Amino acid sequence: MLSTYNTSQYRGRFAPSPSGALHFGSLVAALGSYLQAKSQHGIWQVRIDDIDPPREVSGSAQDILETLSAYGFQWDGNVVYQSKRHAAYELTLSTLIAQQLCYACSCTRKEIKQQGGFYLGNCRYKQFTLTNNALRLNVDKLAHPVTQFHDRLQGHICLNPQEAHEDFIIKRKDGLYAYNLAVVIDDINQGITEVVRGADLLPTTGKQISLYQLLNKPLPNYLHLPVAVTSSGYKLSKQNHALAIDKKNPVPTLLQALNFLGHPVPSSVNQSDCHHILTWATENWDLEKIPKKSEIQI
Ligand code: GLU
Repeated sequence: MLSTYNTSQYRGRFAPSPSGALHFGSLVAALGSYLQAKSQHGIWQVRIDDIDPPREVSGSAQDILETLSAYGFQWDGNVVYQSKRHAAYELTLSTLIAQQLCYACSCTRKEIKQQGGFYLGNCRYKQFTLTNNALRLNVDKLAHPVTQFHDRLQGHICLNPQEAHEDFIIKRKDGLYAYNLAVVIDDINQGITEVVRGADLLPTTGKQISLYQLLNKPLPNYLHLPVAVTSSGYKLSKQNHALAIDKKNPVPTLLQALNFLGHPVPSSVNQSDCHHILTWATENWDLEKIPKKSEIQI
């Protein structure tokens, strides 16, 4: 059995990437993580996951923070920026390298596609130089590969076995840190006890658990919220040009997000401001009411 965090203080976070404005899907993740933390008198932090400059939209980090404020969210402590955390990522990478838990890989995407789409560990014993190559975590070093885990909402999750055994990238060939590396190092550093986010990130969770295990750190709990999809089946995302949520008139969208999470707001409260609505939602937050689905059409 995997060990999980057991601390008296709940610590959660919302970690948007600044690749565009907040849309309805990201509001749901912000709201769910906030209510899960605040209903337990916990800490709720905001982290800007700005590790991928080519995908960044200038000004969107500031815009996301302003939108969160307009919706009545108050975060604890300072906002963490991944762009300022490179030294911590390098430190962990040097530990993983020294312990031979990762290796350099020169395979191209095309080569991996030709082998069936999953990386088969071709470069594991080739001792390529660490520069100008991607770095992959050697999941073969795990005593037990991570093939399943428990999610507090979605239940028992079984991972695709090929994916579970795949040595995944922790630093890209272009020198950028991989999301799976940065998210784990930062969640450990911030003392996050529970990760609440959209179910579109369920498939990455096994990789992140592998990294926790190789770093010998206790796991957070996981809770993946349903994601909003359009009638044509597309997930709302910045890549799909989902509409930015309204900053000037936040109440209707906040009520819609609460409804989406199974918490319709009574008429005695729904005429008030975001602050009062969030207070009501914090007091009435109940995991049992959230639809146990990974997708909901809106
Ligand atoms: N930054 C990631 C995103 O916006 C989410 C990170 C996480 O919650 O683990 O998709």
